[in-house]
Amino acid sequence: MADVFTPEKRSELMSRIRGRDTKPELALRSMLHRLGYRFTVNGPKNKSLPGKPDIVLPKYRTVIFVHGCFWHGHQNCPAFRLPKSRRAFWKTKIEGNQARDLRNESALTSAGWHVVTIWECALKTPAARSWLTENLPQLLD
Ligand SMILES: [Zn+2]
Repeated sequence: MADVFTPEKRSELMSRIRGRDTKPELALRSMLHRLGYRFTVNGPKNKSLPGKPDIVLPKYRTVIFVHGCFWHGHQNCPAFRLPKSRRAFWKTKIEGNQARDLRNESALTSAGWHVVTIWECALKTPAARSWLTENLPQLLD
């Protein structure tokens, strides 16, 4: 099927989807809350740390990024497939995002932060969410 959007239009649509307070991110927040973690989503560190982490757990010196599978190019994920048209455009864009993610992660790690990446697909279905609820404490440890 042909892509009905121009790259610019699609880019705009995608960035709207990508915004903060997305459903997967809210699911993660309530999960953390139920597990008793204290965290910030709008604190100074959410804005000043490399990559502007979605969630900061100051006590654990841990940051969490909730990554959209499309935008961040989740490997081997059914939710990540390059659009059929303008493949080169999307490939460059997503590879740029991945390179930036790596730079942010290494900057955070060398500043002593523990970096956790949660992919959106891990928050999408009830089964995925219950797996994550069980494994979150180890991931954050
Ligand atoms: Zn994924």
